[in-house]
Amino acid sequence: MKVPFIDISRWEPGFQQRWTEKVGAMSGAAQFIGGPEVAALEARLCETLGVGYAIGCANGTDAIQLGLRALDVGAGDVVLVPNATFWATFEAVVNVGATPVTVDISLADGGLDLSALEQAIARERPKAAIAVHLYGWASRDLKAIRQLCAREGVALLEDGAQCFGASLDGEPVLKGALISTTSFYPAKVLGAAGDAGAVFTDDAALADKVRRLGNHGRTAHYGYGDVGWNSRLDALQAAFLNISFDFLDARLASRRAVAETYRCALPTSVSPMPVPAGYVENGYCNVCLIEDAAQKARLEATLRENGIGFGNIYPGSMASQPGAKPYLKAHYGGDRAELLSRQVINLPLFAYMTSFEVDHVVATVRTLED
Ligand SMILES: *Cc1c(COP(=O)(O)O)cnc(C)c1O
Repeated sequence: MKVPFIDISRWEPGFQQRWTEKVGAMSGAAQFIGGPEVAALEARLCETLGVGYAIGCANGTDAIQLGLRALDVGAGDVVLVPNATFWATFEAVVNVGATPVTVDISLADGGLDLSALEQAIARERPKAAIAVHLYGWASRDLKAIRQLCAREGVALLEDGAQCFGASLDGEPVLKGALISTTSFYPAKVLGAAGDAGAVFTDDAALADKVRRLGNHGRTAHYGYGDVGWNSRLDALQAAFLNISFDFLDARLASRRAVAETYRCALPTSVSPMPVPAGYVENGYCNVCLIEDAAQKARLEATLRENGIGFGNIYPGSMASQPGAKPYLKAHYGGDRAELLSRQVINLPLFAYMTSFEVDHVVATVRTLED
């Protein structure tokens, strides 16, 4: 038996038919840019996330760049970035012309280390900071991080590409953020049929600015109030996401059930990172930290021998990337991002994994205990 690390092609009965019919209808009407599918998706995102404004865009990286530009972040500005994240977070800072400074993370939840963040704010006086909600929840210090940034006048952008559908104290994680973003890359919890992303905020002026920047800075069809770029969300992607939204609860339930089985059934030597108090995870991925390098190598070999895929999210810190060298101004805090990248292993976790697959993973991991 083989278990893939991820399989996103397990469509619900009826899903593909709805999508095919939709593509036919939209092609017939040549409805490709803007229109009712984009508007419906944005309304549904606002409702689901408890935010005032949702602006669809081309992908999750553009969403961060649009958010930073809307916050007036540009040349000469320092932006704090967690040292453990997907490279897009770092890239976005450089692409808007700002200067990245990395901040260490916490091994308890993968989020920003609060004391390193405090130190970086005090010393660097950054214009903005990015918090990245990795793995399917956010930092146990999320509220403290928001308060600290608000008090110090640091604009906080929250990269929510991995926390869609997760909640804190019964509320969507991104609710209450100054500005936040997500990605609808196909492998995310809510995935498109290609690239797509969105920006969220409660601030009408920020929302206007994001929408304008993502549509060539347009103030009229041929009038330009800013230099932006084209980051419009395709209507076909919006339509695919609208259909997917109808199945989101079922997909989340399936992911959470797998995550829960891992939490209960895996041996303590390979136990998943605990979900911080107050959060309900979305089941985006499994995260285990294994301190002993030899034990981790043994686990990886055993998984390979048994046809089980696994991940390493992420295998290197931002500061350690060759591409970071010309831009990185400073780093604050310790080297826990490096520790994380050495210790992390992700077992298969995706919607509609079968119980045979989950059992095979659990049984295989357990053989290491004998
Ligand atoms: C996926 C992801 C992104 C980038 O999204 P794209 O849509 O691929 O551009 C950014 N940040 C994080 C944390 C992600 O997981």
